[in-house]
Amino acid sequence: MRIGSTIQGIERAEEKRETMEVQNPYNQKKIAELALAGPQDVNDAVQNSYEIFHSRMKGMPAHERAEILRRAADALHQKQEEFAAVIMQEAGKPIRHSREEIKRSIQVLRFSSELSKHRTGEVLPMDAAIGGENRVGLVKREPLGVVGAITPFNFPLNLALHKIAPALAAGNTVVFKPAEKTPVSAHKLVTLFQEAGLPDGALNVIIGTGKETGEALVAHELVQKITFTGSLPVGRAIRKAAGFKKVTLELGSNSPNIIFADAELETTVSSLVKGAFAFSGQVCISAQRIYVQQEIYESFLEAYVQQTENLTLGNPGEESTDIGPMINEEEAERAKHWIDDAKAKGAVIQTGGERNGTMLTPTIMSNVQSNMKIIADEVFAPIVSVIPFETEKEAVEFANDSIYGLQAGVFTKDIDRAMRVANQLEIGGVWINEISTYRQDNHPYGGVKQSGIGREGVKYAIEDMTEIKFIGIKMEDK
Ligand code: NAD
Repeated sequence: MRIGSTIQGIERAEEKRETMEVQNPYNQKKIAELALAGPQDVNDAVQNSYEIFHSRMKGMPAHERAEILRRAADALHQKQEEFAAVIMQEAGKPIRHSREEIKRSIQVLRFSSELSKHRTGEVLPMDAAIGGENRVGLVKREPLGVVGAITPFNFPLNLALHKIAPALAAGNTVVFKPAEKTPVSAHKLVTLFQEAGLPDGALNVIIGTGKETGEALVAHELVQKITFTGSLPVGRAIRKAAGFKKVTLELGSNSPNIIFADAELETTVSSLVKGAFAFSGQVCISAQRIYVQQEIYESFLEAYVQQTENLTLGNPGEESTDIGPMINEEEAERAKHWIDDAKAKGAVIQTGGERNGTMLTPTIMSNVQSNMKIIADEVFAPIVSVIPFETEKEAVEFANDSIYGLQAGVFTKDIDRAMRVANQLEIGGVWINEISTYRQDNHPYGGVKQSGIGREGVKYAIEDMTEIKFIGIKMEDK
């Protein structure tokens, strides 16, 4: 399969273009050849998107936007197996988890469809200000125009829709640049929206590298907002290059989970197995640091190692597979190197730590230090550390000792303690008796510190993708 960018409904996959291969990370089979876009294509896509914003989307009634998004949700529901198979192949995500991603993507479209009809504003009490008598103040929300959306490889469909669907719900147009590692689902998405009745050009997709096309999109003066999900270094570069544009950055983390001695041990252990190792830990809110109160440290660790060793590793296409490959060999090598480096500095591998090509066995580390890479940086791999603590104060200090702050989990039956800890954590979202890795598509989601700027979660993304306009009326005083 050869795929290229789509601009105003027309694919650009001519022979003369430079190409790049997309491979299945499990068996390295070629699944697509990309006809790469360059800066000129980005310019064409943005210009066209700008035109379509003014001619079609800006004036499109809310009921029509809602209907297009509803039809897209229905179409995705119908094609869920097809889309799940694509994600399994391009990202190496185990098929059961790929299906979960599609289910969530359908919900994101449905939430966006519903909220298309709720782009509300307010009427201000103008007479609250001295001299404001006989004045009416209206606060409206308006779409921004062209939104540039840039996404990573790990949730190729759901994270794309977390940007595209709210942007369209608000009445914007979108130029979307998916990760070059996983562009096949993005390519299919264009057809899905075409079939749902979205005007050509309201969603233009650029298939290209970050350097060649991402940078051009961020720099383009007709783009009003960049919404980016990806790594911290790229997020930093985008923030610098974006100038006056609005920017949402959904970046990385090294998520902490705090387990107090009174927590329900059995369910906590099993949910943290999934929380640390689902999709080989390549999840931005993957459990990376597990702090366990001293009294239950040994029994937690023993049960955790045991259950982790029961996971089934292998072909992501098999129904029974829990853990598939990492995205590529370079990433698996990098993660293995971090494990070996920690071990050389005194950390203990409780289980795992072995690499074969793109496969890395689920790894639990203990005896770690806060300055090791597996603690201080984002591992983005199936590696988790289990660390003992004594007091509540200590647990909060350990958890907050990070440049990141995206999501955390706190496990205890004591609600007063849970709330105290949640309030003290310097983190965008805190789950009580749930893992940091759990996300619903309707709650506000985003980080503090270097985990990012702005919030997603459909309602909150729509807020960030609209601009407030004030209209005041002075009435005749008769
Ligand atoms: P990445 O940062 O390498 O790439 C993300 C996207 O940015 C890709 O489309 C890439 O082509 C593009 N890009 C690269 N350089 C660019 C540039 N200079 N200008 C503009 N665009 C550029 O990330 P990845 O390896 O695909 O994904 C992993 C990262 O994503 C992890 O750090 C993870 O934590 C993060 N992530 C965050 C969230 C969240 O919601 N906070 C969710 C998922 C993943």
